[in-house]
Amino acid sequence: MWAVLAILLLFLALGVHLAWKRRFDAKTGQFNAELLDLQRRQQQTELFAKAREQVLFNSMLEGLLLLDHNHRITLANRSFKSLFGVKVELRGKSILEALRLHALEDLVSQVETNGQVLNYELKLPDINERWLQVNAAVIHDSDGRREGTILVFHDLTRLKQLERTREEFVANVSHELRTPLSLIKGYVETLLDGASQQPEVTQRFLKIIERNTQRLNLLIQDLLTISALESERIQLSLQPVSLRGLADKILSDLHARAESKNMVLINNLEDFLVLIDPNRMDQVLANLVDNAIKYGRTHGKVMIGARRLADSSVEVHVRDDGPGIPPEALDRVFERFYRVDKARSRDQGGTGLGLSIVKHIVQAHDGRVWVESEVGKGATFFFTLPPLPPS
Ligand code: ADP
Repeated sequence: MWAVLAILLLFLALGVHLAWKRRFDAKTGQFNAELLDLQRRQQQTELFAKAREQVLFNSMLEGLLLLDHNHRITLANRSFKSLFGVKVELRGKSILEALRLHALEDLVSQVETNGQVLNYELKLPDINERWLQVNAAVIHDSDGRREGTILVFHDLTRLKQLERTREEFVANVSHELRTPLSLIKGYVETLLDGASQQPEVTQRFLKIIERNTQRLNLLIQDLLTISALESERIQLSLQPVSLRGLADKILSDLHARAESKNMVLINNLEDFLVLIDPNRMDQVLANLVDNAIKYGRTHGKVMIGARRLADSSVEVHVRDDGPGIPPEALDRVFERFYRVDKARSRDQGGTGLGLSIVKHIVQAHDGRVWVESEVGKGATFFFTLPPLPPS
C-alpha cells in the first residue's frame, strides 16, 4: 500500500516537473524569439539610417570628405569623387594615397592646428584649369576628443572663368577707349600749341578728331547694347514680319556704302513670314551686310537668301565673295573684340563687337548663328529663326 502511494507521489511530482519545464521552455523560446526580432529590427533601423545617410551625402552638390583622427578617409561622397575624377573605393586610404595632392594634405594639417579653415581656394593640377573652394573643420566627439576632419568642396571653376572673362572685357574696353581718346588728346594739344594758325592743318586735324569721336560713340553704343543683351534687360517684342521686306529696307539703307566700293547688293529672299523683334533683327541683318561690304572685295557682290528647313524653321544667309575667314577664326569671330585683322577692322570703323551682338540677338530668338568660309572665296554667315507657332 505504502509502496503504491510512494510510486503515485513520484509520478505526480514528475508530472508537475514536466509541465513546469514545458512552460518554462515555451517562455524561454518566446523570449529568445522576441530578442531576435528586436535585434533584427534594430539592425534594419541602423541599415535604413545608413542608407538614408548615403543617399543624402550622395545627393549633395558639394563634395564631402570625412577623415578619421589618423587622416584616413572614412567617407567620400559621389560629388567628391566626380570633382576629383576618382572611380575606386577611397575608404581607409590617406589623402596622398587617394589623390596625390600635397596641397590638400597641407590643408588638413592647417585645419588640425586652427580647428577650421574657411573659403580656401584649391587649384587642381588638371590640363583644364579647375578651382575648388574648401571649407573644413575638426570634428569632436561628445567628450570633446578629436574624432576626425570634415571637408566640403565647392566647384569654383565657372565663377573663376566668369571673373577672368569680366577682367578681360574691362581690359579690352579700356584699351579700345584709350586708342581714340589718346588720338583726340594728341591732336587737340597740337592745335593748342599753335598748329591752329594754319587753316589746312587745322582742317585735317579736326577731321581726325571727328572720326575718332564717332568711333568712341559707336563703341559706347555697342557696349551699351552688349551689356543690355547680356543682362537680359532687353525684352523682345515679337511679331510676324516679312523677312524680304526687312532685307529690302536694310539693303536700301546700305546702298550708298556698297556703291562706294562698286558692290552689288542682291535680295534673293522668298517672302517668309517670321516671328521676330523687327528692330533687333534689323540690327542682325544690318551688321552682317555691313560686314560683307566692309570686308568684301571692291566690285564684289553681297547676297541675302533664306530657305525653310524640314522642321519649318527658317535659315537665313548673307554671302559675300571677299577674302573669307581662315578656319581657325571661324568660331572666334563671334567673341567680343575678336578681329581677324585688327588694323583693317579699325580702319573700317569696326568695334569688334558687331558679331557678338548678332549672336546674342539670334540666340534671344532661340536661333543659331555660324559662318562658313573658304579663304579667297568669300564668307557666308547663317542664322536660323524658329518656325511661326500654329495659329
Ligand atoms: P568688327 O567691328 O571688327 O567688324 P565684328 O564682330 O563685326 O567686328 O567682326 C569680327 C571680325 O570678323 C572682323 O574684325 C573681321 O575680321 C571678321 N569678319 C566679319 N565679317 C566678315 C566677312 N564678311 N568677311 C571676312 N571677315 C569678316
